[in-house]
Amino acid sequence: MTFVNEHYLKLRGGYLFPEIGRRVEAFGEANPKLAERLIRCGIGDVTEPLPPAVVTAMHHAVDELANRKTFRGYGPGTGYEFLRATIAEHDFRGRGVDIADDEIFVSDGSKCDCGAILDILGPNNRLAITDPVYPVYVDTNVMAGNTGPGRDDGSYVGIEYLPCTAENGFVPALPGDAVELIYLCYPNNPTGAMITRDQLRAWVEYALSINAIILYDVAYAAYISDESLPKTIYEIDGARRCAIEFHSFSKNSGFTGVRCGYTVCPKDVQAVTRKEVEVPLHDLWTRRWNTKSNGVSYPVQRAAEATYSKDGAGQIGELVKHYLGNAKRLREGCESAGLTAYGGLHSPYVWVVCPEGIDSWGVFDRLLNEAQLVTTPGVGFGSCGEGYFRISAFNTRENTEAAVERLRNVSW
Ligand SMILES: *Cc1c(COP(=O)(O)O)cnc(C)c1O
Repeated sequence: MTFVNEHYLKLRGGYLFPEIGRRVEAFGEANPKLAERLIRCGIGDVTEPLPPAVVTAMHHAVDELANRKTFRGYGPGTGYEFLRATIAEHDFRGRGVDIADDEIFVSDGSKCDCGAILDILGPNNRLAITDPVYPVYVDTNVMAGNTGPGRDDGSYVGIEYLPCTAENGFVPALPGDAVELIYLCYPNNPTGAMITRDQLRAWVEYALSINAIILYDVAYAAYISDESLPKTIYEIDGARRCAIEFHSFSKNSGFTGVRCGYTVCPKDVQAVTRKEVEVPLHDLWTRRWNTKSNGVSYPVQRAAEATYSKDGAGQIGELVKHYLGNAKRLREGCESAGLTAYGGLHSPYVWVVCPEGIDSWGVFDRLLNEAQLVTTPGVGFGSCGEGYFRISAFNTRENTEAAVERLRNVSW
């Protein structure tokens, strides 16, 4: 018999969204008429179609592939130069941040990158991960064998969880014990919180002081609506030596189905062998891509490039503005319903405190049954998420306004 990767058998997750689906389905079977008015504010998927500049660029790229003279086969494993240069120029150098074209690695989305990065890191790193959290950081470490067994509350032995609560503004305190690998995500999913420049600087200084690496996820960077807040960790001095950053076109450009993202791996980030020899991770990450991938499809890379054109940038700006407008309405709607709400200012997520005496699945059930609203119970993102629920602003304006109206009519 062939052996399996037994680390997969430790996984506790994969429970949240199936359980939501199960409860929504059961509600629909019991109440077919009411089920027609369901509004889904649960998952983090966009609703609005692709911007016209992106569609035009994709069409054009397909036409090129249809013509012998302009046909292209395999592209570079780490991304076409036209896209890497455009990204490095617009997202970094144009803002005074020193990142070279070949420090950009184009991928089919940042979820994959968050998992793939573990290919080039050793198995013995101590991990610090926020709670609540985007489950991908935890589960990919479980699959790679970097944790011990799971506990009943869904956490794993071998991870230092960093509590993110209303008291600390959902920005965790520095870990008590030394760690080697730190996961941070701002604007945050699920809490919708943002980190200040000073807070991020403290993390960078901490990582440098203990030779740790920060894996920084900025999938929602486009939602930062205050110029004084850091859009990339490389705005902080020293981050080139201690941070790898994950970007995605999913949430700003509607690419959740198109699939494109990128990582930034500066040449100054080093890790060590067991004999304490320093190795630049940039070399390993390049090698990893060229061995395991032939890159992202050409039309998709042209589509991503188009998000930086004058028209494209304007159109994706409008998309983000639309979702932020929804988030503002949802947050204010919650507040006027007497609920305490966080997030939604630099993020498409509003993180709401459960009313006294009801836990997060209790709120989920009440909103489903009484208002036909699908939300996400906070406990599904980690034990510190208990006592909160998440409402997503990825919706049409019409659905958002209806959702706000219904939230106001629920009596707690
Ligand atoms: C949506 C999301 C991503 C992006 O995933 P893609 O694979 O690029 O679609 C990454 N990180 C977080 C926290 C997200 O919510």
